[in-house]
Amino acid sequence: MHDTPQQALVHFGREMLARGLTTGSGGNLSVCERSRDRVWITPSGIPYMALTPADMVSCDGRGAVAAGERRPSSELDFHLALYRHRPDIGAVVHTHSVFATTLACMHREILPVHYLVGFAGPKVPLAPYATFGTPALARSITDTIGDHNAVLLANHGLVAVGATLAKAFDVAEEIELVARIYYQTLVAGEPRLLSDTQMAEVLEKFKHYGQTAPPAGEE
Ligand code: 13P
Ligand code: ZN
Repeated sequence: MHDTPQQALVHFGREMLARGLTTGSGGNLSVCERSRDRVWITPSGIPYMALTPADMVSCDGRGAVAAGERRPSSELDFHLALYRHRPDIGAVVHTHSVFATTLACMHREILPVHYLVGFAGPKVPLAPYATFGTPALARSITDTIGDHNAVLLANHGLVAVGATLAKAFDVAEEIELVARIYYQTLVAGEPRLLSDTQMAEVLEKFKHYGQTAPPAGEE
């Protein structure tokens, strides 16, 4: 859909705003081209509506800037740490979406109150608080994420990962929906959680959801 990583970052940055997942210049996004040892990331502190492809910054896997006029996102450290930690991912999306962040401010994980939590795994774990833009935050995230596709950052927001930017964005959007439902059930009464077995079944079905071909014999 997008010819270059820079164009994709502009598109999904605007989508973050349009879908209510962040405000102003909050959050950040990156794409990793592993074959070229290149990471493309949004610049620090520029509102998404003002961004153009030329504003994107690229660096190698150790953070040495290779191209771009702008200073990279203050969270470059945790994006790079995630690419080192999770060889299966090609994109990272960080938001301050309101309901995920509300739960993160209550130091609550997102438990399986709705099957769509399966976009992230059997739950969304919570990374202990560390100041934004620090190596300590990067460590907290990589120590917590395991093989989940999302993690809450205490008193801060959400990080979602995926094979592509579109997939990481979908995770961020679906987890915000589940966070909203979880918050509402906590406020209105008592959430009834899905069991480990029920979530295992969901995660298995998600492997072949949509247009992905099912395994032979399971059509
Ligand atoms: P940047 O504008 O530097 O990417 O920072 C935004 C943010 O969300 C920090 O956590
Ligand atoms: Zn942030």
